[in-house]
Amino acid sequence: MNNTNEMVVEFKSAAQNESFARMVVAAFITSTNPTLEEVSDVKTAVSEAVTNSIIHGYENRDGMIRIKAKVDGRKIYIEIIDEGNGIEDIKKAMEPLYTSRPEDERSGMGFSFMEAFMDGLEVESTYGKGTIVKMWKEIGVIRHQFE
Ligand code: ATP
Ligand code: MG
Repeated sequence: MNNTNEMVVEFKSAAQNESFARMVVAAFITSTNPTLEEVSDVKTAVSEAVTNSIIHGYENRDGMIRIKAKVDGRKIYIEIIDEGNGIEDIKKAMEPLYTSRPEDERSGMGFSFMEAFMDGLEVESTYGKGTIVKMWKEIGVIRHQFE
C-alpha cells in the first residue's frame, strides 16, 4: 500500500489566513491517524511559523506564503516558505525569549514552541531573500515527559 502523500498550498500573507493554514495542514495529516493532541501540536507549530512570515518576513506587506507538506506512513514533514526579509542571525533568532519586536509585546517563544511541539526543526534563511522553516513529527510515538 502506498502511504505517502504530498501537497503544496500558497496563500497571501494576511492574518486571516493563519486559521486557513492550520486547518489545511490538519486536514492533510488525517491519514496519519493523529490524536487530538497531536493535531493540536502540529497546528500550533504551523501557526507560529505562518505568523512569523506575516509579521517578521513581510512586516504586513503583500507577499505569498507557501506550505509544502508530506506524509510518509505516520511521519509528517512540513515546510513554511516566505520570500520576505529573511533572518540575519538564525542562531540568535531561535533562542528562547529572543524577539526583534519587544515593543509589540512579542514573547520570543515561537521557535521554542515549534521545537517543543514537533520532533525536529530546521531554519534556512537568506537575509533580504526569505526564510524556509522545516519541521517534522512522527505520529503515534509514546513520548515520556522526563526523557
Ligand atoms: P512570538 O512568536 O513569541 O510572538 P517572536 O515572533 O518575536 O515572538 P519567534 O517566533 O521565536 O519570536 O521568532 C524569533 C525572531 O526570529 C523574530 O523576532 C524575528 O526577528 C525572527 N523571525 C522569525 N521568523 C521569521 C521570518 N519568517 N522572517 C524574518 N524573521 C523571522
Ligand atoms: Mg513568532
